[in-house]
Amino acid sequence: MANRPLAIASVFVALLAGIAAPHAQVFSLQRKTLDEVEAAQQAAKEAAEFEHLGTLARLCLLPPSRSEDLSDKVPPYVADPSKAPARATWYGDPAKVFDNFYFIGGKVHSSWALKTSEGLIVFDTIYPYNSEELVIGGLQKLGLDPKDIKYLIISHAHQDHIGGAEMIQTRYKSRVVMSAPDWDLVEKLPNRFKTMAPKRDIVAADGMKITLGEATVSLWFTPGHTDGTQSFTFQVLDRGKPVNVVYSGGTALVYEWSLPEWSIRNLETYMASQRHLAAKAKETNATVLISNHSEFDSAYNKTRMLAGRGDGPHPFESGADWVQRYFKVSENCARATQLKVKQMPTALR
Ligand SMILES: [Zn+2]
Repeated sequence: MANRPLAIASVFVALLAGIAAPHAQVFSLQRKTLDEVEAAQQAAKEAAEFEHLGTLARLCLLPPSRSEDLSDKVPPYVADPSKAPARATWYGDPAKVFDNFYFIGGKVHSSWALKTSEGLIVFDTIYPYNSEELVIGGLQKLGLDPKDIKYLIISHAHQDHIGGAEMIQTRYKSRVVMSAPDWDLVEKLPNRFKTMAPKRDIVAADGMKITLGEATVSLWFTPGHTDGTQSFTFQVLDRGKPVNVVYSGGTALVYEWSLPEWSIRNLETYMASQRHLAAKAKETNATVLISNHSEFDSAYNKTRMLAGRGDGPHPFESGADWVQRYFKVSENCARATQLKVKQMPTALR
């Protein structure tokens, strides 16, 4: 009998341990994930330093792009052009950035033109409501003729990049290059891409080359932002000196808390794409990183630094190490996000 209270106590302790064990497992799993998330974010922060803060903020801090809303609705600014954002929020002056490479974008979104002896290769086209002024008007302000657009390369089928493609294809008979999944997306959603959708033309593939005159653009398949996002490497000239460029075609992370399996897979695809493009940038010794959003490459600010360059370094030429760091930022932020998606409790999705 003397041992009875002890026996009861040991049963009680055993019961408590039985209840506590799963919780302890959950907490230690959460703690472990949190540590892994922080390690990935820390790696991104160290890679970003001061040069890639825009990319770090967008990918490691801000909420997801809701780009997977694939409803086929006509965008409000197409249904009613008066709903387009005010010009002051997007207008930016065009600029000659390298001897043969031109910025024809705005404050937020960028388009670019590569000039060759046989005509122009244009990359991305911004929205339907500002492509006429920024892309076409921008070329004209820089003394270039939009009729010379021989190729239009679309990095991915989102309205902020494909907006002027239908107009340019129809008006100038330019060849349009896009990847198969994004051609499919445009065809599947005729209302979503109303006034923007070019007719299916050149289907891009990983490693394909587009050559015009003396210029060659290599296309790299980098899905994850859309299923068919493509990126590019090519050469430009800075006061006659060849400079290698890598153009990242889609950077924002696309995921949904409510679709964890799809999101985890998509972020894995995105990370593989970042490594793929980083390898191509390394192979080609890319020292310039170009994007189609100023938040990722500071294009709008850097074009305004050109005027004060004098004999100094080119503001866009940050060097091969900084280019590689960009891909470390994007990959590590995607890793941190993937870990968060993996551990989000079902009840909170
Ligand atoms: Zn996009």
